[in-house]
Order: sequence, then structure tokens, then C-alpha cells
Amino acid sequence: MNVQVWLETLLSDQPVGEDFEPPVLLAADADRVTDYVFETPGLPEMRGASVQLKWLNLNGIQGLLDEAGLPFAFVDADDTPPGCLVYAAGGGLLALIPRSKAEPLKAAIERLYPQHTGAATTTCVIVDADVNQVRHQFGDLVKRAGHLLRTAKGQKTALPFFELLPFVRRCEACRKRPAIQFLPPYEGEPPEARCRVCAAKRERGWERRSEWHERLGVGRAPRDLEEIARPSDGYIGVVYADGNGLGDWFQEADTVGEYRKRSKKVQRIVRKALQEALQGHCVSRRHPFEVILIGGDDVLFIVPACDALPVAHAICKQFEEKMTADQRTMSAGVIIAEHHTPVYFLRRLAADLLKSAKRDGRGSTVDFLVLKGQGTRSAEQARECIEIGPETLILSHGPYTLDELGDLLNQIRQGHRANFPPSQLHALRAALRQGRQAS
Ligand SMILES: [Zn+2]
Repeated sequence: MNVQVWLETLLSDQPVGEDFEPPVLLAADADRVTDYVFETPGLPEMRGASVQLKWLNLNGIQGLLDEAGLPFAFVDADDTPPGCLVYAAGGGLLALIPRSKAEPLKAAIERLYPQHTGAATTTCVIVDADVNQVRHQFGDLVKRAGHLLRTAKGQKTALPFFELLPFVRRCEACRKRPAIQFLPPYEGEPPEARCRVCAAKRERGWERRSEWHERLGVGRAPRDLEEIARPSDGYIGVVYADGNGLGDWFQEADTVGEYRKRSKKVQRIVRKALQEALQGHCVSRRHPFEVILIGGDDVLFIVPACDALPVAHAICKQFEEKMTADQRTMSAGVIIAEHHTPVYFLRRLAADLLKSAKRDGRGSTVDFLVLKGQGTRSAEQARECIEIGPETLILSHGPYTLDELGDLLNQIRQGHRANFPPSQLHALRAALRQGRQAS
């Protein structure tokens, strides 16, 4: 039986014969994606790493499926015969394939990421299934894949290990791997030592617009974080937004078709919400922005500080409105800081704040922190820090619901006092203010 007939039979409700090859669900997920992207501090490098990962997840995987004779299309493709993909976004993959193809494909996928990046890795697992499970208990299969992925990731050793001999020069970007060449960080600047990984990231991201700049008709990508900070007097905002409890909601789907319907709907709404929020707050005012990562239901981006809370608010609000019938909500963590604060640190704080917002449990929520000066290691420590030195940090009063955040933003815009101590409100306004030269 050829693979196309096998797939069409599997996805139908026709009875299958004894000789029908059993299916497996193959699940892959890139490891520590944000660590990989944020490890090299420059904006072109982050953009390049993001482009690399997207390429691997689409073109790279397509190449491997082609080699294995498996059709690279979604199970519910309308314009082509069905393929074996159920999900492919943000470093994640779910595919239904014949059991005999599983082991070689898994090995090839796990080789693909390190081969192309020198550092990023991915974890792949195989879930044995039968035809009935694929047709009627698909969510359970995905759940099992999730458990297996977590276990496999937990057993992995940290990162590919690079031995640095004493006489080897270290890469000046990641400060981890041995340097192999010299590159000027920006045109006209003196060359710096770069490792293979950081050099490749830069090559992919240099002078290149991202998909989102093209989509929003922005002619030029920002050169660096300083440029993104310009409309806000040197401050940027890092926003990390993610749907609440969506993994469980996807897994409640009984059939492959229902699973596809749910994941497609969420992806479409997240992308549309992001596009409209960036259009309304950044593009319309010619403010630069950079979308660093977008997955199935999460997105991480950098905007001028004055746009960070309004954009986060707009995305969560639109998501919640469009998902009302399904009772799904979205939360965000927002960190506002001076542009030269290490991005690796900002990413971690944004992730901490996102977790804090999700823990709140009041539906769509946003937690944020305005960081002045560095010297704390986590959002929790940063909160404590305010009590020790109020001039160091300005913090939120814990997660805000969208209504509360909307009120706060209005009060800031109208110059009212809001529920903030005056000294903190002054600094919050200063950080969120749009610089005069930009308007
Ligand atoms: Zn490096």
C-alpha cells in the first residue's frame, strides 16, 4: 500500500484489514528555543537565530519527509491530498506516519538541528498507536507524546559541550564557544571574534527584514535595540504572551480533525492579534519593533517601552474576544528596561512575569515590571528589591486583569495619579512616555 493510500485510509472511517500498517504519532520539539535565540546578544543575531529555527521547522523537516517518501502537507489540506502533518509551528511538530518509517525519521530530525546550527537541538519521540486511537482518541495520543517529550528532555545533558583549550580565543558574542572568525558587529566597527554558531546567526539575520516587517509593510528592520528604544528615551519593552491552558484544551479533542481545527484557530487568532496590535501602536507611529519568536499559541517580541503595555493589552484582549465561545484567555509578562540591559536577563524576567500572570487565575492577565538599573536575578527578587531601594525599581502591584490594566493605561495617559505611589508613578510615566523627538 503506498503512503498516500495508507494516509487516506487512516484518516477515513473505513475499516482496515489485518495487513494495514499501524500508525505512530511522531512528536518533536526544539529544546530551549529561547535560550538559543537570546544567547547571542545582538538584534541581527536574534533575528537570524529565529529565521534559522523557522527554516528548520518547515524546510528542514520537509526535506526529511521528502527523503522518507512521506507527503509534507497537513492532514486536512484543502488544495492537495492529505499529508502526514498535524502540527508544525514554533519548533514543534506532530506527524502521523507508518510505524516502519518512525525510527529513521526520528534519528534524522534529531540530527537536523545541530547539523544546521551547531548548537540548537530538538527532542523527538514516537507514540505507538492503533487506527482507532488516531480516529477517536487523538487528544490522548498527544497527551502521551507530551509526557514522553518532557521525560526525554529531562534526561538530556544540558547543551552540546565545547571544550575550550587555554590558547583558544573565545567568541565575544556568546562568550561560550571557540571563535573561528572575525566580524565587525556593525558596519564600520572594529572586527570581533565570533564562533561558528554566532556567525551563522548573524549571516541569517543581518540586514534582513523579518516575516513581520514584510507582512506589515515596514521597509527596514531595526539595526539594534537602541533603535527600538529611541521613541521611548532609551527604554524597550520585552513582551511574552501565551494562551492559558491551551495544551489541555487541544488535548480534549477526540479526533485529528478537531485537534487541527482548534490549533489552526488559535494560530490564526494569535497572528492576527499580533499583527493588528503592532499595526495600531507601532507601525502607525513609525516605531520600530522586532518579533523574536512566534509559536502555536505564544509570541515574544520587543517594542519601544511606551508601546509594550498597550500592545500586550491589545493582543490579550483580542485573543479573549475571539475565543469567547471556547472560554480561552491569554496572559502576558512585560518587562520594561533600558536598552543596554542584557537581553538574556530580560527574557528570563519576561518569562517569570508571564508565569506570575498565569498563576493569578483571573482569566486574561498581564504582569509587568519596570526595571531601572540591573542587579536582580528574577522577578521575585526584583519585587523584594523595591522595598530595599525604591529608586532602583518600579514594580507593578502584581498581575492586572485587562480591565485594570486598561484603567491604569488611561490614567497614565491622562496624567492622573492612578493607584501608584507618586514616586513610582513618575518613573513609570517616564519609562512609558513617548519621547518628544519621535512624535
Ligand atoms: Zn558565539
